[in-house]
Amino acid sequence: MKHPIIQEIENRLKDSQKMNYHEVMYKIIEFESINKKPRILLHACCAVCASLALELLGEIVELTIYFYNPNIHPKIEYIRRMNALTNLVENYNNEYKLNIKCIVGEYDPINFFEITKGLEFEKEGHERCKLCYEFRFDNVAKYAKDNNYDMFSSAITISPLKNSEVINEVGFKSAKKNNIMYLPTDFKKQQGNLKAKKICDKFNVYRQNYCGCIYGARDQNIQIRNIIKEARLNK
Ligand code: SF4
Repeated sequence: MKHPIIQEIENRLKDSQKMNYHEVMYKIIEFESINKKPRILLHACCAVCASLALELLGEIVELTIYFYNPNIHPKIEYIRRMNALTNLVENYNNEYKLNIKCIVGEYDPINFFEITKGLEFEKEGHERCKLCYEFRFDNVAKYAKDNNYDMFSSAITISPLKNSEVINEVGFKSAKKNNIMYLPTDFKKQQGNLKAKKICDKFNVYRQNYCGCIYGARDQNIQIRNIIKEARLNK
């Protein structure tokens, strides 16, 4: 039987009604928490996007952060973001006596270049990005299914440059393909960005200035050689 809240979401989407996914996230967690805290695998692309999720979910669910982002270019920047995230989770756990886990997936950028072939000049937020979300979410959903998580989710809805409805639509699609529940989010609601900034300031978190792929960097006139230089200095 389909989850009643997911059924409600589908009915409302059929009628083109807007959803408040931030509220929906809490409703689903509440519903799933009757006997125990739900085990959630939460995809994050950097420490900044994970920061608020640690605060909002760290105590109410059994949380694992999953860093799977082969879209990030170059590799040294990928490593820098990965280290920033793992350090944040460790420091956050120490500070608040929590036990949030953090795991790192494979770095397979060739697959990212394959799936985005022909879409190199798409604007950020359009078709290339949808495929990039789907490529990553399919991996997250599969990992969650194979490792007995109750559901998977993503922290990237915190980005003010990303449309949470599109991200959640892709999340539901990956969930269907992998036969696991997807927890929709909208972390930018209720001044999410401001709250995330406070957490990042407190823990002195590295903040990147482009989404991740070589195409996004190019469109923002960001020089990859400068990214490499900076990452080397901050090793
Ligand atoms: S701009 Fe960001 S979401 Fe879009 S394809 Fe590049 S890395 Fe992926």
